[in-house]
Amino acid sequence: MKVELLSPAGDLERLKIACIYGADAVYFGGFKYNLRANANNFSLSDIKEGCEFAHKLGKKAYLTLNIVFHNEDLTDVYDYIKEVTEAGIDAFIVSDLSIVKYIKDNFKVEVHLSTQDSVSNYLSVTYLQKEGIDRIVLAREVRRDDIKKIIEKTNMDIEVFIHGAMCTFVSGRCVLSNYFTNRDSNRGGCAQICRFCFSINDEEEPFSMAVKDLNMATYIKDMIDIGIKSFKIEGRMRSPFYLAVVISSYRRIINACYNNTLDENLISKELKILSRVSNRENSTHFYNKEADNRDQYYVGRQEISNQDYLGIIYAKENNLYCIRQRNYFKLGDEIEIITPNMDIINYKVTNLYNEKGEKITIANQADSIIKIEIDKELPIYSMLRKCYLK
Ligand code: SF4
Repeated sequence: MKVELLSPAGDLERLKIACIYGADAVYFGGFKYNLRANANNFSLSDIKEGCEFAHKLGKKAYLTLNIVFHNEDLTDVYDYIKEVTEAGIDAFIVSDLSIVKYIKDNFKVEVHLSTQDSVSNYLSVTYLQKEGIDRIVLAREVRRDDIKKIIEKTNMDIEVFIHGAMCTFVSGRCVLSNYFTNRDSNRGGCAQICRFCFSINDEEEPFSMAVKDLNMATYIKDMIDIGIKSFKIEGRMRSPFYLAVVISSYRRIINACYNNTLDENLISKELKILSRVSNRENSTHFYNKEADNRDQYYVGRQEISNQDYLGIIYAKENNLYCIRQRNYFKLGDEIEIITPNMDIINYKVTNLYNEKGEKITIANQADSIIKIEIDKELPIYSMLRKCYLK
């Protein structure tokens, strides 16, 4: 069986984009009990609609239920579990072992143990396997040889992160947000304090303890070979454009691994694409070595605002594609169009119309509707971006 590519989904639109851009499964949080309280999150009807959409395309839908539960969090959780199970989810991502037991005792739905539990060795995995857990999301801090040993010794379904932000501290074991902002990192309130700049006093240079992002593109083949079952992308707060670019990039790499067409050219092309869509540097962190100073920012880092995303095609009227515009572009610009079927099409903008169908020369109002005649059949949800590959 092929490895699973698992995408975050911050809302219904992003769930749909993730599914059509090549994810095999999506994970998302409801209004309660998940670690991204600031994402839009899913109502019960969103969960139902999201599950139906995913299932129609043969994809799976997982719900996060992975906060650190305190006594007061337990009041409604059992009703909630029943409701969302009936809404059609394929698995819960859980960290509290009492919740694991409750789900396994009462429902026929998979339980995946969250990376919050920092599982890092085969004896823990063996124990958790006996408790009925179907999959374990390993700690991000586990090295390649240890992942391999865990799989060899347990044959457990193992999921690992392959792309996105990292915690400076061991995932799920940080209370910086609690101290600085009174928001509980472990109950969905992380304010990413580790990315702030700090000063000891006015004379000292500010320092940072932020880590670089994770990017495992160069190790995907090796990760498949050692038997990892699911590749997880971080980022429920990320934009639809980010998801489309990252998912399709990893989709091409994974497909090339199975088709025996993976080569240096493909990897370097995808690394170029992935670096454009991120505003932080990246590294492979713990996989192939101990994390060290190459994975870390010590002084403030520059956030590069990304204006590559030009718009998304949401409909076709007669011969005109209707586009929800995002960033500035104009007649004569050479751009790329990415499609859900992994194509990257070069295109020179030769015509532009506003929503009323009047000719315009520039598209410069974020979220306005513009129309373009393009002499190609393009699926809905294709996206326009600046050129990445020139
Ligand atoms: S503050 Fe940083 S290290 Fe702490 S939980 Fe949030 S992202 Fe992780």
